[in-house]
Amino acid sequence: MNRVIVIGAGVGGLATAALLAKAGLDVTVLEAHVYPGGCAGTFFHQGYRFDAGATLAAGFDPSGGMTRLGEALGMAWPVERAEAAMAVHLPGDVTITRWTDPARWREERLAAFGAAAEPFWRWQEQTADRLWALTDRGVPWPPQGASEALKLAGGGLETAVAAPTRLPILALDAFRPLASHLRDMPETLRRYIDGQLLISAQVTSERANALYGAAALDMPRRGVAHVRGGMGRVAALLAEAVRRHGGRVLYRQRVTHVNRQADGSFSVETQKRAGFTADTVIFNLPPWDAASLLGVHAPERLRGAQLPQDGWGAFMAYVGLDEAVLPPDAPLHRQALVAEPFGEGNSVFLSLSLADDPDRAPAGQRALTISTHTQLAPWWRLFEHDREAYAARKQEYAERLLAAAEIALPGLRGAARLIMPGTPVSFQRFTHRSLGWVGGFPQTNLFRAWAPQVAPGLWLVGDSIFPGQSVLAVALGGMRVAGAVMRSLPRRAVDSVEPYSLEEHAIRESSR
Ligand SMILES: Cc1cc2nc3c(=O)[nH]c(=O)nc-3n(C[C@H](O)[C@H](O)[C@H](O)COP(=O)(O)OP(=O)(O)OC[C@H]3O[C@@H](n4cnc5c(N)ncnc54)[C@H](O)[C@@H]3O)c2cc1C
Repeated sequence: MNRVIVIGAGVGGLATAALLAKAGLDVTVLEAHVYPGGCAGTFFHQGYRFDAGATLAAGFDPSGGMTRLGEALGMAWPVERAEAAMAVHLPGDVTITRWTDPARWREERLAAFGAAAEPFWRWQEQTADRLWALTDRGVPWPPQGASEALKLAGGGLETAVAAPTRLPILALDAFRPLASHLRDMPETLRRYIDGQLLISAQVTSERANALYGAAALDMPRRGVAHVRGGMGRVAALLAEAVRRHGGRVLYRQRVTHVNRQADGSFSVETQKRAGFTADTVIFNLPPWDAASLLGVHAPERLRGAQLPQDGWGAFMAYVGLDEAVLPPDAPLHRQALVAEPFGEGNSVFLSLSLADDPDRAPAGQRALTISTHTQLAPWWRLFEHDREAYAARKQEYAERLLAAAEIALPGLRGAARLIMPGTPVSFQRFTHRSLGWVGGFPQTNLFRAWAPQVAPGLWLVGDSIFPGQSVLAVALGGMRVAGAVMRSLPRRAVDSVEPYSLEEHAIRESSR
């Protein structure tokens, strides 16, 4: 039977592992940390369960990617639909609530941006609807191999038939920035969009690809939900699914080397000197981290992989606070945009635990995660050469985050019982991603993302492959990789496993 090793128990790795285990392959997940989830994990500290990175969950509407993944694995997610995806606080004391109900959102945006902005929203929603329809059907980008190329061509044809008048705009948008749709639009709209794009596409409108940007801005329309127990429950349930379907998830197993053997199989070694043999290795890691594990065995495609200059790190504040300070029925997620350029504490994203979630905080309290985008190099320079200055910068950034967060939640500082900062150094330590690079490639053009197969038997999954960052995106990527791995296996290997097709599942669901 085909032996599969998945390196990393992030959501992308676990989604792939669970589907392959369900399909009957012999699957082992090796995870360096003591719990699953990586950037979307939830950790326990002094009575609170904090979401480490990802907090906003999407894809849980009836036909959404997370719902389909759950159905494919025979499991239900512990989620509750969110009425509001988030509240956005703009400079000048303007607050815009991103309602998930379309009529309520239309009313809100008309009041905030006026009728002049409606052509932008029409373009965004129509474009996103077409793109999500393709993504939901598993149309692969960038295509690899004849079957994916055919599928992509089929998707393009379908779009051409369904929306012939939109085709020229879609084609132009594939090569221009989203800013081209914001010219002559109100300045408040541009600022709001830039704040939203930074968290969903890792880049603002001047550089964000228009097609990707339209789809990324659509997240609040794509089944936003609150996960009871924290975002880490998604990974924990996927790990359970791997086991239920006969696979293994092993913790404290940091992989140090992957070597190709004479017979074409791979030996995988961990820091505990444990050895595993696999026919297929799936790296739930950025390409350069996969390359460094393979060393001289790295295939040509991986050798030149380099962390991009414009990639991001995250600075975090994990706060335990008294809930008495919170306004009743407030949206759990908030973005405060203080000044441009956004990032570096000028923009922060805040997420509270659910009010009645005793797993997350002691009674009467809440767990709050606050984050901002930050450049990696300054943190590492100080960490390596001047620890005192590193500590001082950490303190200064924590202050900046709290000051910005006060705009969204006045009184927050006084109500905080615990404040714990985290830097890109912490992210590297806990996720083993080089330099703490997170969030995937800034989506400046559609050709940046990696295709998943890097050599026979070697695959990438996670936020470096299309469709990029977010729990939903890496789960969709995982579904694609699982399908592609199954198709890549020799007939002999597949004959022995349960017949199962993700595409069939996707088509059945989308025709419901
Ligand atoms: C601050 C922040 C906020 C975010 N907010 C959101 C949000 O609100 N909503 C959203 O949907 N997404 C959000 N994201 C993005 C989302 O968290 C990620 O895109 C997604 O979780 C990445 O998943 P992944 O599959 O790439 O794996 P990762 O999360 O990168 O996990 C990889 C796993 O591999 C393990 N590993 C690494 N190296 C080794 C090794 N050598 N051996 C064994 N194990 C190894 C790591 O320990 C880790 O568990 C956020 C990210 C960050 C950082």
